[in-house]
Formats: sequence, structure tokens, C-alpha cells
Amino acid sequence: MEQWLEGSVASKTIWTERLLSLRIVADIEPFEAGQFIKVGLKIGDEIIARPYSLVNAPHERPLEICFSIVPGGPLSRNLAALDTGNNILVAPRAHGFLTMKEIAKGSDLWLIATGTGIGPFLSILKTGTPWQRFHCIVLVHAVRLAKELMYRELIDELTSAYADKFVYVPFVSGENAEFALPGRITHAITSGQLESHAGVEFRIAESSVALCGNPQMVKEVQQLLIDRGLKKHRRFDPGNISVENYW
Ligand SMILES: Cc1cc2nc3c(=O)[nH]c(=O)nc-3n(C[C@H](O)[C@H](O)[C@H](O)COP(=O)(O)OP(=O)(O)OC[C@H]3O[C@@H](n4cnc5c(N)ncnc54)[C@H](O)[C@@H]3O)c2cc1C
Repeated sequence: MEQWLEGSVASKTIWTERLLSLRIVADIEPFEAGQFIKVGLKIGDEIIARPYSLVNAPHERPLEICFSIVPGGPLSRNLAALDTGNNILVAPRAHGFLTMKEIAKGSDLWLIATGTGIGPFLSILKTGTPWQRFHCIVLVHAVRLAKELMYRELIDELTSAYADKFVYVPFVSGENAEFALPGRITHAITSGQLESHAGVEFRIAESSVALCGNPQMVKEVQQLLIDRGLKKHRRFDPGNISVENYW
């Protein structure tokens, strides 16, 4: 049977009517940046639990998750209803392979996310490791509406701190946003717009790519990169691409 720690909500950020972050106090085991934990609530007689990536770095507390409310989903809407001081169940141990240890070696790191898939990448970028390991880091974040580009303050801090090696590329597909690229990541890869905007190219010998979020984006971007000669990264068969699908 799954073991649970009794945690509590320390604070909540409401980014939009369907996009939130919760900070949670719970004494989980040490974890690696980029991993996820299972979070649950007792609903009726049942515990409903789902995985959520940690946005906080391993040295930071409280824990932090960001999530969107999925229409008809049993957990996300109940998580959104929580407030400071409410109880929440947290599994003691984090899991996942979207970590610096498991991401391919190279000189350029591409972190490509849709929606809440940016969470594990922020956890990673809050640590020193990627900045020591890579010459250039590109963070791509695709959303429908500009207001869904969360954590802008943190991203601005990273941009100032690492001006010589960090590029943030937001995409907004559902409205015009002057500061963001329009449309989808896949189209911008095909047209070359993403690389020219970032000032970096996808290179077989140099690029490490991590993809996170919407499975359709993950699948399509992965295929485009494979068509360009990059390959899936495996511990015993090094390549370029690591992925995490959210559903
Ligand atoms: C490894 C991993 C890490 C994850 N980390 C996060 C995270 O950091 N933030 C986050 O918001 N979600 C994350 N998820 C998804 C999350 O676990 C839940 O599935 C989601 O919050 C919906 O929960 P639910 O109980 O309301 O609905 P569910 O019963 O889980 O899902 C209902 C339906 O919606 C689909 N679905 C699930 N998530 C989404 C979504 N975001 N958009 C559209 N459809 C979806 C499911 O496939 C299912 O068909 C992660 C999933 C995995 C596997």
C-alpha cells in the first residue's frame, strides 16, 4: 500500500482561473531537480493521487508544484480549491529521469515545455549544475494565452544572472503577443524560426534536448529532431533527447 506524508499548504499562487501553484510543507526524502512527486487528497473514502513535477530546487523549501485544472479531472480541481493551512497528502519519495544526471551531455541545452511542463526545468535552472555544464541554455515555453507564461519574475532573474548564456523563448498560440513567437513550436522548428530567434542551432554533436508537457508536442518535436539526425538519449546508448509526458 502507498505510504503518505501529511503535508500542508503553505501558500497558493493563482496565475489564471485554471493555472495555479501550491507551496507545500512536507518532509519528503531528498530529491533531484527535475523530479516529480505524487500528491493526493482524500476524496470520499478514496485517496486520489497524481504525479506533479517539483518547481522548487532540491535545496529550497517549501515544496512547490504548478498545475492546471483539467476539466472533469478528479484531482486537479480539488487541488485548486485548497487554501493556506489545508492538509494535502504527499508521497515520501520523488521519482523521474528528467534530471541533469540523465540528460545528455553536450554544449547546448534546450529545455522545451508546454504549459505546466516548464516546472521541472525551472527546478533544474535554480541549481548551479546546468550553468556549469552548458555553454548555452535555451528555455522554450509554449502556451495559448500570454497570461499563462508563469514564473516571469524568476525567468527575468535568470536572464539577468546568465545574460551571456541564457535565452528564453516564449510562444503564445492563441493571441498576438509582441514579445512571444506566434503559433506552435513544431512550425518554428520546421521553418528555422526557433533556431534563428534563439541564435543556436540543433546540432547532433552538441545539443541536449529535454521535452516536457503535452504528449503531442513531445512526440512531434522529438520526430522533427530525429529527422534532423538527433536521437533519443538512453543511459547505455547516449543521444540527445530526453522526454517526460504529462498524460
Ligand atoms: C510524470 C508526470 C508529471 C506530471 N506533472 C504535472 C505537473 O507538474 N503539473 C500538471 O499540471 N500536471 C502534471 N501531470 C499531470 C497530472 O498528474 C494530472 O494528470 C493532472 O493534474 C490532471 O489530474 P486530474 O485528476 O484532475 O485528471 P486526470 O484523471 O489525471 O486526467 C483526466 C484526463 O485529462 C488528461 N490530462 C491530464 N493532465 C492534463 C493536462 N495538463 N492538460 C490536458 N489534459 C490532461 C488525462 O490524460 C486524462 O485523460 C504530470 C503527469 C505525469 C505523468
